[in-house]
Amino acid sequence: MTAVLMDGKALAAEITERLRAQVDRMKSDGVVPTLATVLVGDDPASRVYVSRKHRAAEAIGIGLRNYTLPENTAEGELTSLIESLNADGTVNGILLQLPLPSHLEQRRATEKIEPNKDVDGLTVTNAGRLVYGESDLIPCTPRGVMELLHHYSITVESAQVVIVNRSMLVGKPLHHLLLNEDATVTVCHSKSSDLSSLTRDADILITAVGRRPEFVVTADMVKEGAVVVDVAMNRVEGKLVGDVDFEGVSKKASYITPVPGGVGPMTVAMLMQNTLVATTKQKRALVSPVAQQ
Ligand code: NAP
Repeated sequence: MTAVLMDGKALAAEITERLRAQVDRMKSDGVVPTLATVLVGDDPASRVYVSRKHRAAEAIGIGLRNYTLPENTAEGELTSLIESLNADGTVNGILLQLPLPSHLEQRRATEKIEPNKDVDGLTVTNAGRLVYGESDLIPCTPRGVMELLHHYSITVESAQVVIVNRSMLVGKPLHHLLLNEDATVTVCHSKSSDLSSLTRDADILITAVGRRPEFVVTADMVKEGAVVVDVAMNRVEGKLVGDVDFEGVSKKASYITPVPGGVGPMTVAMLMQNTLVATTKQKRALVSPVAQQ
């Protein structure tokens, strides 16, 4: 078998076109969806990710507010900035680029973001809504993975899905999204024993470890005909690669995502989508008291 490539780059481009048309309509109604990005410190990878998000926002016509704070920013300064963005009616989405420098507590900082502006879907409120299947601001990477599965008509209902990752950014929200669509989901992590026997059972295998060369998903860990989604990003000899031994696994899988060009572009597209969702929610909250009169 040679796997079908799940082309996240092409799908993200399609979504971007759709979002651009939506932004044009919003602008003709006098609404300019605006995203604020907050980057603390000089982490080179974070800089690259933030600049990709800026480029995507510009391409769609989303307004941008860019805040770069020095590495030694005190927690109080970061909190003040987030609170001022929460209160600013011209800002619809707030993206706090993670990871933060180690002296800043990530959970506490994220929690300062007003849930209706939390375009990464990481606040307790949005995570709780997701568990109840009621969230509209869903973490971007898991949302992107689901979009890819839907686009390629992969049957999720009743499928055995194995996720190798239990982070709040990837594994845990994906677990709920898949459960909400009636998959049977197993979530694995660094303490899982006999990982290969679990991954070999998967109709859909989603991996996001990012510890190459120690961790590689090889063909013997994959069931014949499985759908393989590689979320991870590793730099190996200057090249971006995922967790999966692409060459070996693509001979055995039915569908596979490339790295780069798979989940990465979808994450950025979903951030843009979430910014429009947040804008619409806020405008609705503003007009609804009038509408009810
Ligand atoms: P993370 O918090 O470090 O999570 C890594 C996960 O892998 C953890 O659950 C960890 O288990 C598990 N793990 C580590 N070693 C393992 C092993 N030997 N066997 C099985 N599981 C193992 O990182 P993250 O933020 O979720 O990101 C994970 C990867 O996805 C990274 O490569 C990151 O760059 C990538 N990523 C990509 C995108 C995108 O848009 N494509 C977005 C987000 C993240 P424990 O919980 O036990 O430690």
